[in-house]
Amino acid sequence: MTNTAEILIVEDDPQIRRFLRATFTAEGYRFHEALTASEGIAQWAARQPDLIVLDLGLPDQDGAEVIRHVRESSQTPIIVLSARGQEKDKIDALDLGADDFVSKPFAVGELLARIRAALRRASIIADQAEGAIFRTSGVEVDLARRVTSVNGREVHLTPIEFRLLQTLIRHVGKVITQRQLLVEVWGAQHSEQSQYLRVYMAQLRRKLEADPARPRFLLTEPGVGYRLVEIV
Ligand code: CA
Repeated sequence: MTNTAEILIVEDDPQIRRFLRATFTAEGYRFHEALTASEGIAQWAARQPDLIVLDLGLPDQDGAEVIRHVRESSQTPIIVLSARGQEKDKIDALDLGADDFVSKPFAVGELLARIRAALRRASIIADQAEGAIFRTSGVEVDLARRVTSVNGREVHLTPIEFRLLQTLIRHVGKVITQRQLLVEVWGAQHSEQSQYLRVYMAQLRRKLEADPARPRFLLTEPGVGYRLVEIV
């Protein structure tokens, strides 16, 4: 399989850049490199890459500035490289609109899986404009008709349950923070009501997962939020 996607690497650490260069070359991705936040923003504007791999600790400005700038006008997928243990940085980056993160030191397989998921999500978002059907693990969601079925049998979802599912599908593969979900599903005034999420996620799992206690695709991302994964 050839990868035609073009990736922008924004990272000042030469060792990590060398590693990413070797990895992306082996995978057949095209890529460009930037060493500072301002160079990253300039390259993003000039090249319009399909995805950005972004370090948060950059010499001129925080990597968060790149996310803020890109999200003003574009949904280009952004995967953040963060130092292990910096939970707050990760959540802030996700809240600003980053798609995902990998903690340093990261395994190449994990990074590539996140990149594939983010690129796949970008294509699902493009399809949704045309009313696509989302499928994972026996679950089928017709987004245009708002019909959900499990193993061919229609399941009734309440409007809030459907909106929560729809939001997770829109961000499929991506970690989405509790705050993001609350704002998108319930509105900004409910951004702190994490108990809503626990209740409604439990309901969704009960209706959609074969074993709600051991979910396969409606996953909890401990300390951060939730992630819907696509099981093909
Ligand atoms: Ca750095």
